[in-house]
Amino acid sequence: MCTTYLVSEIISEFDGLDLIGYPRLVRLNPNIPWKTRGNGAICVRMGRGGGRRLHAGEISGTSVFAFERELPGSLPDDAVERMSNIMETNAHFHEEKTNPAFAVLQKKPSPSLYWRAVRGLVTRQEVEKQVSGLGEVKKYKNGRGLIGACSAISWVPRDRTYEIITYRERSKWGSPRRISDESVKGMDRKTKHTFNNYDYPNERVAIAPNSPCPVLFGIRGDEPEELLEAMKMIDSEDIDRWHLFLTNQGTDDHLIRKRVSDIGMYESVVVAGRVTREPVDLVGGHVVFEIGDGSGRIECTVYEPSKQFRDIGRRLCLGDEVRVFGSVRDSPRTINLEKIEILRLEERLCKTSNPTCPKCGKSMKSLGKESGYRCRKCHTKAEEGSAKVVKVKRQLELGLCEPPVCARRHLSKPLSRMGLEANDLTLP
Ligand SMILES: [Zn+2]
Repeated sequence: MCTTYLVSEIISEFDGLDLIGYPRLVRLNPNIPWKTRGNGAICVRMGRGGGRRLHAGEISGTSVFAFERELPGSLPDDAVERMSNIMETNAHFHEEKTNPAFAVLQKKPSPSLYWRAVRGLVTRQEVEKQVSGLGEVKKYKNGRGLIGACSAISWVPRDRTYEIITYRERSKWGSPRRISDESVKGMDRKTKHTFNNYDYPNERVAIAPNSPCPVLFGIRGDEPEELLEAMKMIDSEDIDRWHLFLTNQGTDDHLIRKRVSDIGMYESVVVAGRVTREPVDLVGGHVVFEIGDGSGRIECTVYEPSKQFRDIGRRLCLGDEVRVFGSVRDSPRTINLEKIEILRLEERLCKTSNPTCPKCGKSMKSLGKESGYRCRKCHTKAEEGSAKVVKVKRQLELGLCEPPVCARRHLSKPLSRMGLEANDLTLP
């Protein structure tokens, strides 16, 4: 179903335990072909809480608190059975790509598992080996969900953001959502550290999903307290429950710096190079160009849903130096652009007129492409480069560009977060 919704179910089921830290919503490699849509997994840490109490959610009017620290205590020995119950009542097993699994671990697997699962390919067998002895696991159907579940537990944030997710009453699931556009824009203007709320050029609310899932809306940001305020600013139908998640969304954790020749399957990369083939528009509205970095060349595509971002691609010229960010598609091999940084623009000259003859002052005649000029009267010759030219003003600026809000991926770091990356890694 909707993976994040299960947080409510888990918290309600284990109400004798405290929540330690915020529940986590962890996105994994967006390029894995057999993933579910957002390739997300959730992780909830429970036990006996101590230290500061944080407002982490609300279920039908009752507040949920998360504790800063964990105190020694014991876990119920029927945890696996109770988790199975939650899974079996909620999972949509008939859906082909739904292959759920869960893990109840007493110890975190190595964080290297997370890094491999967000940037590359991990097999279920590897995961099972890595978590053996740390607790119990249970998988359904092909059990691939276990990779996400264990990788989410292994995540030790380097950078992080938060998302407050609100849910609809069950009777409303599947019906159109009522959310006022104006209130979303208002919230976007009034809050400092939220992102991806409203797509202004395309006039679309970006906080609500388009699927018939239980989510009403989700607001992303860097400050959990501000997200609570932001939620209250939205004028919408009734909120049945909400939860605050600690997430790896908007962190660029999936990106790896690469040379063209080293790019591997299913990777998302950052590559610097020069434009080696000028942009062309494809049928379907996609824009394609090519870059090279000395080790090789690779095509880059700005897909139609990126809308206005395609204009950046279209304005590139041969020789421009850029740094591209995006996920690699294998066939046809191309980088699906998530961001671009313009590093240097090639000077572009435009011919305004043919040269005048140095002897008699008459306008000269072109001898064809790249062949130079000749005077009509005295037959004096001149080179191709002697034509009168002006420098063309390039319609691009140096620096980073990103697609409009609606076309951004969960893991892509929005430009508004650049330089705001978290370094306080002891957070709950
Ligand atoms: Zn002449």
